[in-house]
Amino acid sequence: MHIDQALQLIRDVPNFPKPGILFKDITPLLSNGAAFNSVTKEFASFADSSTVIAGIEARGFIFASAVANSLGSGFVPIRKAGKLPHESVSAKYGLEYGVDTLEIHKDAVSHGAKVLLIDDVLATGGTIAAAIDLIQRIGGDVVHVLALLEISGLSGRQKINETYPQIPITSFLVS
Ligand code: AMP
Repeated sequence: MHIDQALQLIRDVPNFPKPGILFKDITPLLSNGAAFNSVTKEFASFADSSTVIAGIEARGFIFASAVANSLGSGFVPIRKAGKLPHESVSAKYGLEYGVDTLEIHKDAVSHGAKVLLIDDVLATGGTIAAAIDLIQRIGGDVVHVLALLEISGLSGRQKINETYPQIPITSFLVS
């Protein structure tokens, strides 16, 4: 299946998880094998087996682990606070209301490792910016950021570019 056809399967769900949010539901894409395969291949085309694939909890895990496995690369989870069992570093980031925290294991990547960072949706950019910060603090080199979908009205790309102008960001669909 062509990637554009696969992306058309992403479904808008108004007012979820709260009033005013238009939720981008990727489950119809995931449950279609040809579509899931198409987007996995597209993500994987930005890396090779020497690249570590990092994914952000929870939906970033789905794509990042599939991509890592297809390339024979390692997968590194970036998790919400309190989930990782070993020594970790934390980064706080702003949400629409309040703050949240992401964490990564200190030994998740070797020093200077090339890391491809994957998430499903780029909205305000806070989540991806925090994930880049974590990877860099443990010695990784974020070579590219990939998102399935970008909500352009929220200026997440600009926010990430301000802090990390050298890191390319690619999203497959802009809404
Ligand atoms: P942000 O930090 O604002 O860029 O938010 C990105 C994170 O929140 C991603 O991990 C997404 O899974 C999730 N997210 C934010 N907005 C949406 C949305 N409208 N639909 C689905 N997921 C979203």
